[in-house]
Amino acid sequence: MSIRIDDNLEQAADGSVSCRHCQAAVGVAAEPLRDARVRLSAPRDAGPSVRSNARHFTDREVVLRQSFCPGCLTMLQTEIVPGDEPSHRTRTVAVRA
Ligand SMILES: [Zn+2]
Repeated sequence: MSIRIDDNLEQAADGSVSCRHCQAAVGVAAEPLRDARVRLSAPRDAGPSVRSNARHFTDREVVLRQSFCPGCLTMLQTEIVPGDEPSHRTRTVAVRA
């Protein structure tokens, strides 16, 4: 039996995380997107709402980081972050009390 994490991910009883669309392995409970494909590009690639150059606010390189399912390439996560930092976003499975 699997538990739904979000629209794209589910977690099996053994803790493995897979794509809900194609069942490809994507990660484990502690690192749900561990095996996702990752694309890095300029923040402006996110669309017209990203107008400012990050260099005006920080000396660090800022990137658009997009994570995709390795099986069907469904986009799993998008974030604009310092390129040298890991993702700080977390996912948890809702547990009924
Ligand atoms: Zn998939």
